[in-house]
Amino acid sequence: MDTTDVLVSEESLDPVDWSALRSLGHRMLDDMLTYLETVRERPVWKKPTPYAVRRMQDALPLYPQEAESVYEDFLSQVLPYNVNNIHPRFWAWVQGSGTAEGMLADMLASGMNANVSIGDHMPMYVEQQVLNWSKEIFGFSVSAGGILTSGASIANITALVVARNYFSKLIKQGGLRSLPGQMTIYGSSETHSCLLKAVEIIGIGSDHFRKVPVDSQFRIRLDILQKMVSEDRQAGNLPFCVVGNAGTVNTGAIDDLEGIFRVAQKENLWFHVDGAFGAIPRILPEFEDQLKWIERADSLAFDFHKWFYMNYEVGAVLIRDSKIQRDTFAYPATYLSVHEKGLSGGPDPFSNYGMELSRGFKALKVWMLLKEHGLQKYASLIRQNISQARYLGSLAEEHEELELLTPVSLNIVCYRYNPGGLSEADLNGLNKEILMQLQLEGIAAPSYTLLKGKYALRVAITNHRSRRQDFDLLAEATCRIGRSLAGK
Ligand SMILES: *Cc1c(COP(=O)(O)O)cnc(C)c1O
Repeated sequence: MDTTDVLVSEESLDPVDWSALRSLGHRMLDDMLTYLETVRERPVWKKPTPYAVRRMQDALPLYPQEAESVYEDFLSQVLPYNVNNIHPRFWAWVQGSGTAEGMLADMLASGMNANVSIGDHMPMYVEQQVLNWSKEIFGFSVSAGGILTSGASIANITALVVARNYFSKLIKQGGLRSLPGQMTIYGSSETHSCLLKAVEIIGIGSDHFRKVPVDSQFRIRLDILQKMVSEDRQAGNLPFCVVGNAGTVNTGAIDDLEGIFRVAQKENLWFHVDGAFGAIPRILPEFEDQLKWIERADSLAFDFHKWFYMNYEVGAVLIRDSKIQRDTFAYPATYLSVHEKGLSGGPDPFSNYGMELSRGFKALKVWMLLKEHGLQKYASLIRQNISQARYLGSLAEEHEELELLTPVSLNIVCYRYNPGGLSEADLNGLNKEILMQLQLEGIAAPSYTLLKGKYALRVAITNHRSRRQDFDLLAEATCRIGRSLAGK
């Protein structure tokens, strides 16, 4: 074989022409910065055209296409039809709004292509630092455990796996059939669906998630919680965990966390808090009374990509006792053992603390953004969102044709158009139509929920770009569309 031939035919995925890629890269960066700078000028939502959707059925590419032309495809087919949670009037579900700095940090992390699983390299220490800062924010001790996740769903599952395995040493190897009874878990009826999924995934089954009824403010009824636990014990079931909600997804209700902690302590249950977005106001002194009990939790799930406004995806779980976390996930594999020196030295691998081995460098944006903005900045933005929610709540209360459906406790406002004289069924239909019109016209993107059978326009404000006038505009548009649909 001719060796020069072999050398000539070797290739890589690096650009042949770095300077061409450099100018394309600069163009992309400029385009995206402009895109973010001008977001307010565009409609909040735009339906993907049938053509753009059809293009997503193009054949599998076998041969190269110029990078620039691929970028043109992105510009014409993808970018215009963003979910657009970056828009100042995006308030659907609970979605964070991201930042330009976060975009840049993600670029840096992606350029490094760090796999934050094992080894003696700085990305491992950056994630440890971010976890340590998180512990400080929520009052966990520095020796506590934790791990960054793609979001609160995975954070909640991670916590429940730890809680489950802690309940009995037999489960890790023997599975649930090594137990003498049925494990049961408790949380309010307002608990997020990801926890019910978690209970299904970890083999306990959602039938064994006891949905405790809520009071008029959508908070867990402690008396019924206590009763359910006692009844389960009498029936020979095995209560192992109770979930407290710091900010329910429907209304932002914060459970009586102290009360849940007391029940957990008395009944020897794992106390888990789902604080996806609602744990974050812990950084405000005015929420200290309600949220300081998070520090007594055995585990906490929360998101950086919601109310810390960080770019998708990044969430976290904290576990009070890192040894219990490690006992749950550590698995001795020779190829993953830590050496005394060299690249294979360094911190305990993250794979010993969670479900994944290969993991991206999500920690970098959190580290950079916390440094760039400082916790005080986040505190004032969160306070701003809460005051905007109260403002919209007062608009809905004061306006004759609007009705506030639940008191505003955090950053979520549930209201409807109600001009009077319509049946509940008609109001439900009318408000659903109003919601769709608000989105179709590109004015605003709230979402919806059902509260005691009433269809509510639901505005969840985890958006640093929203301004007061955006809520004036929403209230006006709701009434305008409502009137025209109701034929008034
Ligand atoms: C969003 C949310 C979750 C799920 O978090 P993801 O980051 O979307 O996976 C869980 N609980 C509550 C209360 C939420 O708002």
